[in-house]
Amino acid sequence: MSAPENPKLKISSEMAAVRDHRRDFPAFRFVYPVISRRAKGLSLGINLNPDKRCNFNCVYCEVDRSRPGLQIQPTPESVREELDRLVGAIREGALGRDPRFAGLDAAELTIRDFAFSGDGEPTLVPDFDRFVEAVAGTRRDCGEEQAKIVLITNAAGLDKAAVRRGLRILDANGGEVWAKLDAGTEEHYRLVNRSFVRFQRILDNIRRTALERPIVIQTLFLKIRGEPMPPAEFDAYCRRLEEITAAGGRIKEIQAYTIARPAPEPWAARLSAEELEAFAEALRRRLGAAVGVYP
Ligand code: SF4
Repeated sequence: MSAPENPKLKISSEMAAVRDHRRDFPAFRFVYPVISRRAKGLSLGINLNPDKRCNFNCVYCEVDRSRPGLQIQPTPESVREELDRLVGAIREGALGRDPRFAGLDAAELTIRDFAFSGDGEPTLVPDFDRFVEAVAGTRRDCGEEQAKIVLITNAAGLDKAAVRRGLRILDANGGEVWAKLDAGTEEHYRLVNRSFVRFQRILDNIRRTALERPIVIQTLFLKIRGEPMPPAEFDAYCRRLEEITAAGGRIKEIQAYTIARPAPEPWAARLSAEELEAFAEALRRRLGAAVGVYP
C-alpha cells in the first residue's frame, strides 16, 4: 500500500522546490535536497553519477548529456562526509534561507528519505555496498531513522554481487528498492529505454529482488509519436508483473508517472493527468495492486 498523504504537506507539482531538481546545492557535489512528491516531503538525493554515466538511454531522460558530466568520482567516505554535513546544515536552518524551500515549516523539512538518485544509474559504481553502508551510517548516527533509504534503479545491476550485498544492508536499515519497468516486451523496452542490457535480465533481476523483499515498481507512461502505450503492450507489461507475483515476488506499490519536463526527443510527450490515471486504474483493476499516480 502507498503511504497516506500527509494533509499538512503542501506538496504540489507547482512548488518551486518540486519543480527544481537541480543538483547544485552549494558546497555539495554528491548530495542534494529536494522536495519530492514521491517521498511526500524532503528527500536527500545521493548522486553517485556526477559523470552522467548510465546503461540506459531513456527517451525521456532529464539528464542533459549534451554537456559532459563532472569527472569526479564519489567515494563512500566523501558521500558520508557530505551527507553528515548536509543533515547538520538542514538542522541549522540552511533550507529556510534558500528561496527554493521558502515557506516550508519544520514538519515539511523533516527528512523523509535518503535516495540514491542522480545523473545516472547508481548501481554502476564499484563497491555499491560501501555507499549503502555510508548512508546507513548517516541515518543511524545523525538520528534520522524515521527516513527510508531508497535505491532508485533501472534494475540492470541488481544481480551484481556488491549490489546484492548493498540490498541486504538496505533491508537492515529501512531500505526500499524502486525499480524501473517501462515495457512488457523487448521491442518496447528497446524503443523507450534504448539499453544494450537484455530485457530478460531486467525482468530476472526485478523478480529475484522482489522474491527477497517487497519492492516498488516505477513505470513511466508516455506518448510516442502522439500515441500512448498500445493495448497489446500494456497487456504484455501487466503479464510481466503477473509473472513476478506468480513466482512469489512481492510488489508493494506501482508508481505510475509521466514526463515532467520537456523530453529530449520531440516525438516523446507526456500524458495528461486523466490519461495517466486511466492507466493506473486499469492496473488496479487487473492486478489488484496499489498504484500511486504522479502526473
Ligand atoms: S535510467 Fe534514469 S538516468 Fe538512466 S537514461 Fe533512464 S532516466 Fe536517465
